[in-house]
Amino acid sequence: MQQRLQQARVALEHACDAIDRPIHVMEVCGTHTVAIFRHGIRSILPPGIKLLSGPGCPVCVTDQSYIDAALSLAERDDIILATYGDMLRVPGERESLETCQGVAEVRVVLSSDDALQLARQYPDKTVVFLAVGFETTTPATAVVVQDAARLGLENFCVMCSHKTVIPAIEALLSQKNDRIDAFLCPGHVSVIIGAEAYRPVVEDFGRPCVVAGFEAIQILEGLAAIAQDLVAGKPQLRNQYGAVVTPDGNPAARAIIDEYFEACDGIWRGIGVIPGSGLKLRDKYQQFDGFARFGLSETVSDKAARGCRCGEVLCGLIDPSDCGLFGKACNPQHPIGPCMVSSEGACAAWFKYGRHGHE
Ligand code: SF4
Repeated sequence: MQQRLQQARVALEHACDAIDRPIHVMEVCGTHTVAIFRHGIRSILPPGIKLLSGPGCPVCVTDQSYIDAALSLAERDDIILATYGDMLRVPGERESLETCQGVAEVRVVLSSDDALQLARQYPDKTVVFLAVGFETTTPATAVVVQDAARLGLENFCVMCSHKTVIPAIEALLSQKNDRIDAFLCPGHVSVIIGAEAYRPVVEDFGRPCVVAGFEAIQILEGLAAIAQDLVAGKPQLRNQYGAVVTPDGNPAARAIIDEYFEACDGIWRGIGVIPGSGLKLRDKYQQFDGFARFGLSETVSDKAARGCRCGEVLCGLIDPSDCGLFGKACNPQHPIGPCMVSSEGACAAWFKYGRHGHE
């Protein structure tokens, strides 16, 4: 393994030497961001390559208005808000789910099925499941809606804020950050959507895409392949996680997503609306749609905490340490923006593993 790592590092170095400008590669998801730090990969990269963290941490991109919409139900004693734990500290405009726990009944769940079981356990309450995440978690939300319909559970619904990766990548390239040269694509999302989903990014935008797992060798070989493609001037789609990622993904998971959800405009914190990047329940399942049931909506929030630059971090426009609040007013104990909340948020990862990125 050491030999393969060394070969990949040397190949990357040679490719970077052959290009007379810095290479900017975006690792789309937070799992890659953390894995790259954890394996110490940044410390062995040649100076000609720069990694940019992307918008692939579900907690980080959940808009403030979504949290506020959920919190608008907080004072009702007939409602249980069920959420994944890392959503607790995501700030809304004034409060978070954590700070409202004294007023609201907020339950942390480990899975969507846990939320459904709460509904069965408390028939006199309505359980509202806060459904966030990318294609990796969307099928599990679809399954609990399916189960709730089958069981006739009327006291269960979801506030859906699921998002999809490809429209976000395309929006970044179209509007936000045209200096991104290539993408390291997330292995777990790709298990669902398939490697071929990135084909338009390669063919329409001319950016190499490599689907990679989360081991050091997979990441380093992926980066070397990207750099070699850039040297050759031939962007390619490569799947280096072929053991689990197929060209077309998981057909059963894709089918159940398609059955229960349809595309809508997604609201991304700090970025705004990305057309077609969100998912909402189809009309025939509207009885399980928490937004519809309680007359709630998400709107683009313009009230981010003063000085917080999460939007720029999520677009790869700045490093976390470029934010003036990083490591000072904003730290994991006192997060100001969502990128410092989740363990997979770029700011939290930079703080934990290097603080200023010069590790
Ligand atoms: Fe936002 Fe904190 Fe990151 Fe600054 S350091 S961008 S305030 S999360």
